[in-house]
Amino acid sequence: MRQPALWKPSEVLRGWANKVIKKYPAYLEMCEPDRIGYMTVTDTHARWFGVTYKVREPFKTALDDEMDYIIVINMNKIYDLFAKESRLNAIRIVLLHELRHILGAGKLRRHTVEDFLSMLEKLGINYLDSVQPPNILAKKYVSMFEKK
Ligand SMILES: [Zn+2]
Repeated sequence: MRQPALWKPSEVLRGWANKVIKKYPAYLEMCEPDRIGYMTVTDTHARWFGVTYKVREPFKTALDDEMDYIIVINMNKIYDLFAKESRLNAIRIVLLHELRHILGAGKLRRHTVEDFLSMLEKLGINYLDSVQPPNILAKKYVSMFEKK
């Protein structure tokens, strides 16, 4: 029998995500760091890199912290596709994408063609390239995304 997927809260991801939020205050203006939870999933065959969930009632009441969103990163995909030195850059890119889904007040932004195109345009067509995903904390990228 296949192992069940393993979901775990991750404070390490929170730390990385908070750095991304800090660097992109305009692009991620709807993100309130304290209202977002982070989890990793392993032992999964899911194809996605990341997913953002709204936390709805009655689950809100079961959590210690008041959270509106939970972002999950699929560590299987990261480990399968990226060399050790590229993993953190890849995770930051996925986090940037997932955080962009957050619209505040418990709402989620849907994927729009514009959002997707702007990511390709700014980071390059192979931005989630396993060889060299860019470091989005670099000034060059921050200034591109933050421009309105
Ligand atoms: Zn998405």
